[in-house]
Amino acid sequence: MVGNIYSEIREIKAYALDHRVPIMVDEGIDFLTTFVIKHQITNVLEIGTAIGYSAIMMALANPNLKITSIERDEERYLEALKNIKKLNLEHRITLIFKDALDVNLNDKFDLIFIDAAKGQNIRFFEKFEKNLMDKGYIITDNIDFHGYVAKDESEIKSHNLRSLVRKIKQYITFLKENKEFKTTFYKIGDGITVSEKQ
Ligand code: SAM
Repeated sequence: MVGNIYSEIREIKAYALDHRVPIMVDEGIDFLTTFVIKHQITNVLEIGTAIGYSAIMMALANPNLKITSIERDEERYLEALKNIKKLNLEHRITLIFKDALDVNLNDKFDLIFIDAAKGQNIRFFEKFEKNLMDKGYIITDNIDFHGYVAKDESEIKSHNLRSLVRKIKQYITFLKENKEFKTTFYKIGDGITVSEKQ
C-alpha cells in the first residue's frame, strides 16, 4: 500500500512536469506538511488546487485533516478529482470547481493556503480571512516569485511579469502593515509567508 502511495505521488509529479502544471516545490511541500502536523491543523481551505498535489500531501501527512480546495481550471480540476480518488482521499478532500473570488463559504478553517493567481493575493486574503478561526494561519506560496521579487524592476523586460511582481510586492507590504496578523517570511522553496491571526 505504502509503495502504491509513493508511485501515485511520483505519477502526479510527472504529470505536472509533462503538462506544465505549477505545483509546490519539494522544499515548500516539506514545510507545509510539517506545519500541518506541528500545529495540529484539522481543517484547511486551499485556494488553487491545480491537480491536487499539495492537498493530497497535506492529507497524507495528517490523517485527521480535512481540506476544501478551489480550482477554476476544468482540466486541472478533473485531474485533481481523479488523483484524489486514486488515493482514496475523496472523503477528506472536497473540491470546488469555480473561481475562488466567486465562492462564498460559511465554514471556518484553521489554515487557509493561498496558492492561486499571484496577482490576486490581497483579494483572496481579504475575501477569506473571515473564514479563519481565531488563532488560525494563512500561508501564501511563491512570495519570491522565482527570484523576480528581489530583482530591480529595470531587469524585468516583460511588462506582464513586471506588473505581476509589483502586485506581489504590494501583497508583501499589505502583510507587513496588517496589524491583525503577524506574518513571518520564510526563504523556503519559492518563498512562503505564514500569517498568524492575533
Ligand atoms: N496548490 C497546488 C499544488 O501545489 O499542488 C498548485 C496550485 S497552482 C500554483 C495555482 C492554481 O490556481 C492553478 O491551477 C490555477 O488554475 C488556479 N487558480 C488561479 N486563480 C484562481 C482563482 N481565482 N480561483 C480558483 N483557482 C485559481
